[in-house]
Amino acid sequence: MAHTTATVLNVPLHIVFLPTKDRWLIRRGKLAKRYGELFMAPAPSLRRVQMDAWELRSNFLANMPDEHAVLAFLNATGRFSSHGSVHSVQEFLEWQRVIHDLLETSSFHKAHGSPRNDKFMVIFNAENEFRFSLDIWKGAEEGVAVIEAKSSLQAIVATVLIDRIRGTKIQFCARPDCGRPYAVTSSHERKYCESYCAHVESVRRTRRKKRKQHKSKEEVQ
Ligand SMILES: [Zn+2]
Repeated sequence: MAHTTATVLNVPLHIVFLPTKDRWLIRRGKLAKRYGELFMAPAPSLRRVQMDAWELRSNFLANMPDEHAVLAFLNATGRFSSHGSVHSVQEFLEWQRVIHDLLETSSFHKAHGSPRNDKFMVIFNAENEFRFSLDIWKGAEEGVAVIEAKSSLQAIVATVLIDRIRGTKIQFCARPDCGRPYAVTSSHERKYCESYCAHVESVRRTRRKKRKQHKSKEEVQ
């Protein structure tokens, strides 16, 4: 009889993501119709600076008011996906929604299986094939597991799966011009990703209140 031994390796897991230097542009008119609105001029080299995958995901999920914000994200991160790029601002925003749903929905498989996400889930699943290595880093006593992400979407896919596996509860910042995700770490209720956003919203509330009081005073006079 064969014996199977399952051993869980308890080592830190790193996602290594180096953005590429690819340049993104927006096409207009006929060209956009024929080839897609978003165009990437590929550059073979990588930036030397590693980007934290969770920070990358946070920037990706931030509310983007216009196409310039989308372009800024793409130009800071390079290649979006190795399995079918992103061809329009609309498609980029749909990707944001898909990742948002996968993080927020209590049942991963419910979000995963919804028909709306089909086209995206094919790519999502294709990105879930990482170059994975076990390593012992210089100076470190213990080993590390390393996931090498080849595109920003692949790094984001890794963070989504890791967060789901370790049961991290994610909420989204209530400041309308932020919307970034944050991990719920205590039972203390929180509406904003950081104190900066809470402060901005509190200033806005005070201003609204003052304006309202001012208006009703005018009405009385
Ligand atoms: Zn925020």
